[in-house]
Amino acid sequence: MAVRWADYVDMDARTDDGSGRPARRWWLLYLVIGLTVTAVYTFALPSGSVATSAVYMLVPGLLVVASVAGILIHRPKAAAVWWLNAAAWSLNFLASAWWAFAPQAVSGEMPFPSPADGLFIATYVTLLAVLVGFARQRGGARDRGGLIDALIVTLAVATISWAFLIQPILTADGADLGGRIVPLGYAIVDLLMLGGLMRLWFVPGVRRPAYLLLTAGILLQLVADEGYTASVLAQTFAFGEWYDPVYLLAWTLIGAAPLHPSMRVLGAPEAAGEPVLTRGRLGFLATAALLPPTVIIAEINFVGSLGPDSRIGLTCVSGVMSLLVLLRMRGLLLDMSQHREMQRLKNEFTSVVSHELRTPLTSIRGSLGLMAGGALGAMPPQAQRMLDIAVNNTDRLIRLINDILDLERIESGEVPMQIQTCAAADVVRQAVREMEGMAQEAGVRLEADGAPVVVSADRDRLIQTLCNLVGNAIKFSPAGTVVRVSVAPDGDDAVFRVADAGRGIPPEKLEAIFEAFEQVDASDSREKSGTGLGLAISRMIVGRHGGRIWAESTVGKGSTFAFTIPALAQTPPSPAGTGPTVLLCDDDDSVREVLGAMLVRRGYHVIAACSGEEALRLAIRERPAAVLLDLRMPGFNGGETLAALRSRLETRAIPVVIVSVTPPESGYAVDGWLQKPVEEDALGAALDSVLALRT
Ligand code: ADP
Repeated sequence: MAVRWADYVDMDARTDDGSGRPARRWWLLYLVIGLTVTAVYTFALPSGSVATSAVYMLVPGLLVVASVAGILIHRPKAAAVWWLNAAAWSLNFLASAWWAFAPQAVSGEMPFPSPADGLFIATYVTLLAVLVGFARQRGGARDRGGLIDALIVTLAVATISWAFLIQPILTADGADLGGRIVPLGYAIVDLLMLGGLMRLWFVPGVRRPAYLLLTAGILLQLVADEGYTASVLAQTFAFGEWYDPVYLLAWTLIGAAPLHPSMRVLGAPEAAGEPVLTRGRLGFLATAALLPPTVIIAEINFVGSLGPDSRIGLTCVSGVMSLLVLLRMRGLLLDMSQHREMQRLKNEFTSVVSHELRTPLTSIRGSLGLMAGGALGAMPPQAQRMLDIAVNNTDRLIRLINDILDLERIESGEVPMQIQTCAAADVVRQAVREMEGMAQEAGVRLEADGAPVVVSADRDRLIQTLCNLVGNAIKFSPAGTVVRVSVAPDGDDAVFRVADAGRGIPPEKLEAIFEAFEQVDASDSREKSGTGLGLAISRMIVGRHGGRIWAESTVGKGSTFAFTIPALAQTPPSPAGTGPTVLLCDDDDSVREVLGAMLVRRGYHVIAACSGEEALRLAIRERPAAVLLDLRMPGFNGGETLAALRSRLETRAIPVVIVSVTPPESGYAVDGWLQKPVEEDALGAALDSVLALRT
């Protein structure tokens, strides 16, 4: 069985309809078409021709098609805002069509305001709703800091816009009301849009390719608008100015956004976390502090178009702006250090208390256990009953303390995640194996189903999370039902799911249960021996991996808990493989999966064999550049396979690298030896050196 490993790692290119067919990269195609059209428009078409008008209809038209097609292809969970986005671009299309073909526009006598201007401004107002909608979906309502920062940056730009656009528009000589209202409308709506963009930008977790493309495109469009408004103001407006191709470029980026698979990834809002001063945030704030003074200095020295009053006004306002930004930064830094200190004190407290409790509890549990087990002689029945209750509750207390300690350790980052490349399906199988005993006791059947996805994660922590979810599913399911555990690729992520047919969770509790000590029913901790911390720990672990966790449920029918873990980077070569061919022989599915993914990432074409016999057959047929060989395999083992390869003329010269759990041993005529678990770099180095010898 020769396996195309590229298919396994190229999650981005896979559909999630279960068919495994690769999805087309529509977004890339759209980018290429858009860039080509922009280049043709800029360099090849005579400005003001019918062809340029056609382009001005074609690109906005394609943008509408892309906005709708993206929703239909990817079916995002939060589709309403994407539909609003499509509506905004439909308005934009109508406006562009008017620009391109209305008789006044063609004759060059553009009335201000024209219907197109009204439509453009309506586009922007709708877009503002789109930006706010996305920010809200991502939990922006709880992120006050982001709102303040967005306001600061917008105010900084507004001061400049006031001095160079709004004030000149208001005081322009000779312009009629229409001539003023349109540029003014653009200037104000642009500022509002900038505010919306910044608002979205500062919401944590929004930096997915789709959202980056959208925000970058809108930002470009704002830049083009400034050029357009300034030209209307200076009465130098003409077709074919620099801002025309910038509009086309902006629409190219914006249209690619809904076609990118990452547009699906919105949904559960992120919790407002600790205050952070990321590089992006710092950059924007610094720009807000420096932009107004820089512009005023440049104006005074090089342009000199502002009157003395305006200069004084602008200097004062920019000084106040800079002060505001500095105060905000100081506040942010202070918040951060206070937050850290509070966190440290809390962690220290829980850690000390928990450790102090654990020591006496261990001896109490030991003594009670001895007594209950009859080591001190038989007890009267009533005393025995009391002892059993005491043992049970001591166990519960110990579990609780262990969970608190675990939560605190993960939260404080005291135990770093041991990130390694692992096959998700293998993690699912392992978790199911571990929970099999508990399931049998409860009369619940476990089913595992894993698609070949590779993730970069702390394997033990993933298993812990799955075990916790499966444990809950078993606890809250009646005997005779099935709990399904699965993993499947979804866009850039691997999605793990644990589905039960148990009692279900009421909708108002679906979010709350992820908080520490939250339970659906107060009796759950007693009757189901839970601590109420399992889901909080799971959320912390998933969050550490950059994923998210959520629950879906119908009361009385069952619940599904799901979490995402980013899948391994998806930049494989073409499935046919562009690099040298490597034959990978191992009887373990997960080893083949993980090593295969590593090799594909390094550009090799991989063929896989699950037995020595198959490896020999494939080596003769495919003549690989190198063979990676496991030693311990049922049937034809590694040593025998090696001997067979060496004895045949066709395969004698192929370098062989052993990949085994055992350290290197003498007696094998091989070209390299890797001990499992194999690091990606070591694998690359070993292959590089054997292939270099060959050439
Ligand atoms: P516990 O240790 O109590 O299970 P968790 O944080 O794991 O703590 O779960 C919190 C609560 O969420 C549970 O007490 C239960 O009320 C609810 N819950 C979790 N999983 C399920 C499920 N599969 N079905 C129904 N309720 C669940």
